[in-house]
Amino acid sequence: MTSKTKPNLIGTKITLKEAEEHLSEEERREVRKRYRALLKAIKKSGNNTDIRTVGKALRVAMKAHRHQRRKSGEPYIYHPLQVATIVAEIGLTDTTSIVAALLHDVVEDTDLTLEDISQMFGTTVAELVDGLTKVSKLSHSAVIMPHLETYRKILLALAKDVRVVIIKIADRLDNMRSLDALPEHKRVRIAMETRYLYAPLAHRLGLYSIKTELEDLALKHLNPKQYYEIEKWVKKNKEKWEKILNRFVRQLRIYLRKAGYNNFTIEKRIKAISSIYDKLVRKKDEGITLNEIYDVLAVRIVLDVPPETEDVACYDVLRVVHKHFPHIPDRVRDWISHPKANGYQSLHTTVIGPEGKHIEVQIRSVRMHEVAEKGIAAHWKYKQGVLSDKVLEEWFARVREILAHPEKDPHLFLEDMKLNLFDNEIHVFTPKGEIITLPKGATVLDFAFHIHTQLGYHCIGAKVNNKVVEPTHVLNDGDQVEVLTAQSQTPQPEWLTVVKTAIARRALRRYFRRAKKELINKGKEKVKKFFAENNIKFVPSNLKTLVKYLGFKDVKELYYAVGRGDLSLKMRDGWKVEDGKLIIEKPLTLEEQLRIQLHSSTIQEFEGKSFQKCCTPLPGDNIVIFQREDGALEIHHSSCEKAAELLAHYGAQIIKTKWEPDGKISFMIRIRVKGTDRKGVVYDLSRIISKELDMNMQGISIESDRGQFSGYIDVFVSNREQLDNLIKRLEKVPYLHSVEVAEGQLLWASEN
Ligand code: MN
Repeated sequence: MTSKTKPNLIGTKITLKEAEEHLSEEERREVRKRYRALLKAIKKSGNNTDIRTVGKALRVAMKAHRHQRRKSGEPYIYHPLQVATIVAEIGLTDTTSIVAALLHDVVEDTDLTLEDISQMFGTTVAELVDGLTKVSKLSHSAVIMPHLETYRKILLALAKDVRVVIIKIADRLDNMRSLDALPEHKRVRIAMETRYLYAPLAHRLGLYSIKTELEDLALKHLNPKQYYEIEKWVKKNKEKWEKILNRFVRQLRIYLRKAGYNNFTIEKRIKAISSIYDKLVRKKDEGITLNEIYDVLAVRIVLDVPPETEDVACYDVLRVVHKHFPHIPDRVRDWISHPKANGYQSLHTTVIGPEGKHIEVQIRSVRMHEVAEKGIAAHWKYKQGVLSDKVLEEWFARVREILAHPEKDPHLFLEDMKLNLFDNEIHVFTPKGEIITLPKGATVLDFAFHIHTQLGYHCIGAKVNNKVVEPTHVLNDGDQVEVLTAQSQTPQPEWLTVVKTAIARRALRRYFRRAKKELINKGKEKVKKFFAENNIKFVPSNLKTLVKYLGFKDVKELYYAVGRGDLSLKMRDGWKVEDGKLIIEKPLTLEEQLRIQLHSSTIQEFEGKSFQKCCTPLPGDNIVIFQREDGALEIHHSSCEKAAELLAHYGAQIIKTKWEPDGKISFMIRIRVKGTDRKGVVYDLSRIISKELDMNMQGISIESDRGQFSGYIDVFVSNREQLDNLIKRLEKVPYLHSVEVAEGQLLWASEN
């Protein structure tokens, strides 16, 4: 906005001439073209929309936005026009929705106020625009990702009028289509929001084609490399696939006509890039490459049959399809007798088509198809005939019901909402066949803790689909899981870094807290005993002397180290006892203190110590320790350049020592591997690490490209020797060319 003068709009009639003053002749033609497209979309849904009011809204919006251009240089009005068209295409053609869509940005971007809108178009439109402005501001303030609070606010806006959400989704779709013009940091933020908030929302509302387009556009900006790689692959194979699809459709038509069906359409398509990408990600563990993804082709048979007989017709057509093409039994889905919550109905099956290619076949009626494309708006329209206020009301109620849950606890409700929105969960089965829902990435431990805390504490692994796996094994959708336990097993600190659920994390924290308390008590008893044996009075002043001498932070830390058995107490040179008072004449050097502490380092005390990513020091290494001004310790491998630099500068404050391995700390190390591609790479490497070397693997990721693969393995090690052995072993694997510890990937088992 450059002008501060407010256009006098209220009460006056804006002529088209006035509204388009600022546009060039060509742009005026374009506006009219787009407006005609909007009217066409409105007409198609056959609602009694008040076109005069729509025209007025367009003129008001045009004039209000007259000083604005989009980043691409286009007149701003193209955008609201496009948003209104998308809204109409979804089937939301009531005057209020269209007008609100045309005006959705005026309050935020121009001089027009809500009152102005309310006076010109009524309070409902003003309320919608208000909601849209609020949601929009929210989006600008969300720094990285939409978090819980953002959801809450969106939900609040939503509870008032669901149309806000639909218009917002349309707005987002148009913005995503023209995202290229924005700088990268903005693009990424917007694409993230789209991926994690708007696409799932569209999905929940049953707006499938919009959801797919949003996901594709988001992927393009979030992961351009993979996006373009898949796009290239699709382009390369397109001609071949289209031939297969054409042949398949020709055959299908013949079979359907033979079975007595004449009124149907068959749509064919190659699956969306985002859907291929999701498949790749899902199958990552199996090391699947693009060329191994086989279900990329799909056709959709839409039957023009009356609603009374649609079910029967769809099932019959499924029978015809299965009769002529072999199908994959576990890929048949019946969403007709079990419609999705958003009203989606269809039959899905995957058959083996020409040249052995898998083709997904969807079968549905025209009515079901419209619901699938336009979401529940269409569902209700069909039910009631027209999109009246009453229908809208009912529809909103239904949408709210879908988006909401009967959960009483608002926090739980939001958590649940978030999980569903993120489409981020897996369903696994107990041996009895009960379904347990867990977040994606959940491990055997999460499953165990979900069932019972004790099961988690004593978990030594599980039988997943009858195969024995580690406690840290990541579960997949559909796995059947039987937890294996041993009474002797106790929780391991590294478990905290792998569990995904709050319930498991809480249980583990509780355990470690309790265990620590016990060790502290045990340590206290030992100190008491040591004092008693040496006639030292067990009083604060004596404890303080000892704590100070050893360089501990407080007495608890001392108890803990003693309780763990890391520090044995004995009378040393220069210690004496007078009248029950402990006197220490010779203080320890900083080096001696640090050695004691380094040795007695336990997971939580590691917080204050910083392991340098440049050289990944490990127990068993010769290291240098440097105490920084803030008291934290910096630890480098002695051969590290940084260590030499520190020595040169702070010689006196540096301690050189050997880090004695005590096996009590685990480090997660990322190892990069490269080699010649072959089937079963992931399996081989997992077997060597988990079975042969009996090491704890956290993750493995391998990508293949033209016969070569590269990737990484995350594995827990507790000392240098273990890491060296692992690398030596991997170097012997014939098809592996390079094995190296990745820089900057040293993580240590996290805090309790
Ligand atoms: Mn907008």
